[in-house]
Amino acid sequence: MKKHMRYLLRRVLRENCLAESRARSLIKREKSNRRESERLQEVYLHRSLSRAVHVIPAYSSLIGKIPSKSVKQFVIDNFPIIDKTRLLSDRASFFPHDGIARPWWSVGRTSGTSGTPVDIFRDYNSAIWEHAFHLQHWSWAGFEKNARQIVLRGDLVVPPEQDRPPYWYLDPFGRQLILSTRHINNASIGYFAAAINAYGATQLRAYPSAAYELSRLAESHDLSLRFKSIITGSETLFPAHRDEITRVLGGPVFDFYGMAERVAFGGECEFGRMHIHPEYSFVEIVDSHGKPTEEEGFIVGTSFHNLAMPLIRYRLDDSAKWSRTACPCGRSYPTVERILGRIGDTLLDLDGRPVSPTIITFAFKGVSNLARSQVAQTERDHWEIRVVPTASYSDQDGDMLVQNMKRLVSSRLNISLKLVPSIENLPSGKYKWISQEV
Ligand SMILES: [Zn+2]
Repeated sequence: MKKHMRYLLRRVLRENCLAESRARSLIKREKSNRRESERLQEVYLHRSLSRAVHVIPAYSSLIGKIPSKSVKQFVIDNFPIIDKTRLLSDRASFFPHDGIARPWWSVGRTSGTSGTPVDIFRDYNSAIWEHAFHLQHWSWAGFEKNARQIVLRGDLVVPPEQDRPPYWYLDPFGRQLILSTRHINNASIGYFAAAINAYGATQLRAYPSAAYELSRLAESHDLSLRFKSIITGSETLFPAHRDEITRVLGGPVFDFYGMAERVAFGGECEFGRMHIHPEYSFVEIVDSHGKPTEEEGFIVGTSFHNLAMPLIRYRLDDSAKWSRTACPCGRSYPTVERILGRIGDTLLDLDGRPVSPTIITFAFKGVSNLARSQVAQTERDHWEIRVVPTASYSDQDGDMLVQNMKRLVSSRLNISLKLVPSIENLPSGKYKWISQEV
């Protein structure tokens, strides 16, 4: 009953007809010319800054000084770049309302994967906007109003200790079957596959790690699961995992880029290009000195829609590079080359050099019978591959994986393989595929 209430409220308050109508107008404008979106950006930016100077103490000296023209240049010239460390260390200056959330605000938390989490206060209207941007992106992936979705993300829909199906929740208000990511394993995959197929959804929304795991398990148990499109986001999607997901589950995959701070939103279109949404926020890409760059640089964003706590020129840990070629899809939004970062952990080889997680995924290509896996650095000179085997696993599979690591990833590694009964998710339901434990 409580669960029903939660999803009903979500539907009424956030995922409502206002969000739908906003999404429709976003879609209507998405192919209009660049000048129109730049004009809108100026309007939104002006509103955000005007609010920020009144509610964020650090900016109070700029009250009355926000110009109505060339606002972008003004923000660059007058507002410093801030980051998570700054928010954490100087709460008095960068939080509204003395750092205490008002009862009608919601509080978002950044995931703690890359250090300490930070609270972000959000107003109600921004939550409706957030859903509108997602609806628009879903539409790029072929979603139509009232279509059914399978959801495989962080939702806590089943108590962790539950050991028999159903491991899912049918949300009657949002037309989605929400699966418990935490319960998918060798023993339960058959139940999951039956439930997914019986529900008859054409779209899957998932954490990349969960979609990858679903595809691995479906394949090793010879179960057929096919979707018309798959929407991933909230974690890094590794290219090798994307290939595996589309090969087994259908697709294509439409990855989106977003974060709890909500200072940037990107979505892949049908041409696989990542568009940065100009109506969501003002995004800059800057070098290590904070200057704009055409090379790979840090993503800095200024939120447009959260007036409870406008984040101005907030630097993320992620990096990207502008792409200056137009996308064949015809949308006027700028695009970036692949967004890097949010990787969280980095493993080092015997020489202390970082090894890209994307490269590590290569070792798993062609290796079967793994229900779940994790690569961890347990000592300065030692990596451990943890594997939850499927029933048909043999030593050959493990040997191949270890050999692939040396052959395809780096010869400067000291690796062992460990078979384990399970590998736990983080409390958020996200899954740490690469784990630095030294
Ligand atoms: Zn495009």
